[in-house]
Amino acid sequence: MSDKEPGTICYEAHGNLYLNITNRCTARCTFCIREQADGVCGYDLWLLREPTIKEIKDVLSTYDLSRYREVVFTGFGEPTTRLDVVLEITRWLKGRGKRVRLDTNGHTQLMYPDRDVVTELKQAGLDAVSVSLNAESEETYNKICRPKLENAYQAMLDLTRSAVNADIETRMSVVRLSGVDINQCETIAHDMGVDLHIR
Ligand code: SF4
Repeated sequence: MSDKEPGTICYEAHGNLYLNITNRCTARCTFCIREQADGVCGYDLWLLREPTIKEIKDVLSTYDLSRYREVVFTGFGEPTTRLDVVLEITRWLKGRGKRVRLDTNGHTQLMYPDRDVVTELKQAGLDAVSVSLNAESEETYNKICRPKLENAYQAMLDLTRSAVNADIETRMSVVRLSGVDINQCETIAHDMGVDLHIR
């Protein structure tokens, strides 16, 4: 293993603790914060390397977890490109009674076609998931999110539906951009039975 420090694994904001475990992503969204800045809330989120599970647990152990509403997998990349890390850290946090949320682009099932990712997340104890809807149609989605995997839009919708069915607290999110029909996005989220978070 490299001896250089990975960088910012964990950061505080909005009363939550956020985890930044990878810079890899299966999309290249035109609006991605990574295109405009080196981080958020004053934290540089470009990792020098991906942190190990032990390093993530060690960093989390330095925080008084009771001070935070929830721990959120998010950061400068798609957390579920490291699904096994997400699962293990979720189990570890749930063992400490912490609420855990995953922010995801929803492509996870495409990344792991032989697994049942929502069931695994549920079994690990995941409390909540926020899925990036981002567009009212596949055409618009492909234009602005530029997914690297085929059928990403449908996979994202399917993952959302599976999360609802698995009784994971689920919401969708959209960024207010010209060319995105927010009303249609609201209808999609409403039909799924979830709230839409507009950013
Ligand atoms: S899915 Fe998220 S991390 Fe990935 S490119 Fe889009 S906005 Fe950035």
